[in-house]
Amino acid sequence: MIAVVTGAAGFIGSTLSRRLLDDGHKVTGIDALTKAYDIELKIRNVDNLVDHRNFQLVYGDLTDPSSVDLLRNADVVFHLAGQASVTSSWGRSFETYARNNIMATQRLLDVLAGSAIKRFVYASSSSVYGEAMVMPTVETALTRPISPYGVSKLAAENLCHAYQREQGIPVTSLRFFTVYGPAQRPDMAFHRMFRSVYRGEVFEVRGDGTATRDFTFVGDVVEAILAAASCGWNGVANVGGGNRVSLREVLAIVEEVAGPLNLRWGPTVAGDVRDTGADIDLARDALGWEPRTDLYTGLRTMAAWAEELLRTEPSHR
Ligand code: NAD
Repeated sequence: MIAVVTGAAGFIGSTLSRRLLDDGHKVTGIDALTKAYDIELKIRNVDNLVDHRNFQLVYGDLTDPSSVDLLRNADVVFHLAGQASVTSSWGRSFETYARNNIMATQRLLDVLAGSAIKRFVYASSSSVYGEAMVMPTVETALTRPISPYGVSKLAAENLCHAYQREQGIPVTSLRFFTVYGPAQRPDMAFHRMFRSVYRGEVFEVRGDGTATRDFTFVGDVVEAILAAASCGWNGVANVGGGNRVSLREVLAIVEEVAGPLNLRWGPTVAGDVRDTGADIDLARDALGWEPRTDLYTGLRTMAAWAEELLRTEPSHR
């Protein structure tokens, strides 16, 4: 297949691109190398991809019409570009979220309407649920985000639905639940925990440590994305790792696999939900997918990557 991966230099986009190339596909990656975090990390993510004969990396912004033009020949578009992070989406910075999450998605979909695209896979988020009333949460649950980030992800998901229904674009939206593994973004909790272990930095625990997350290994997320690309199903499905644990439990596992953390306890942060938990029956039925990586194994894999990065390179944020 001729695949386009938006956000190819990011955490999930670069991991997916590697896998597509390993499977023999041609990949065009597009990334604006935004300053959401250190560009050096994004360059590191694509370092082992750029020399591959089937890979092309385009430096471009999806809100710029000339960048999206090259999508027209794609068989499948994997739309992973976006402005991530819940906690920094308040205030003036929402403009960036609106542009990179909502406008960018609308531009893409508009260019693809009427094209011969076989599938558009959108990276949605568990944050669309807000404080879910029921755990594990099914896709039909009320979507009422409590962060501007969640609002922007839900808006883009709804755009995907509108373009699927009215413009005939075959779309699958996948709601990822806290993704972790090698190349994880430096603002995310596990990455910061490993900075604490390997560099002695303070890891601030937000809240009392009883909040829970359904952590999902990036390799399992990539499998779900590939399943969505090939199964011919339109809709919205949860992609959760089946590892719903509290922050306290995670801290203990990180200490076991990597070493002692330097902790400080702080307040909760606006926009951070208390709990997440994915009901993945729909993903099982519609995509034939289920997660395979338990938290302990996934964290050991991530620790090996983090140790190399954090012990050998200057500080990245
Ligand atoms: P990331 O920040 O590492 O990757 C996103 C990439 O998109 C970055 O390299 C950035 O430069 C690029 N980008 C942003 N705006 C762009 C634009 N306008 N044009 C071109 N490129 C642009 O983030 P990630 O953690 O890999 O997340 C990938 C996607 O998955 C995002 O859409 C995010 O909202 C979604 N998601 C991630 C998680 C998670 O736990 N990581 C959970 C739920 C949803």
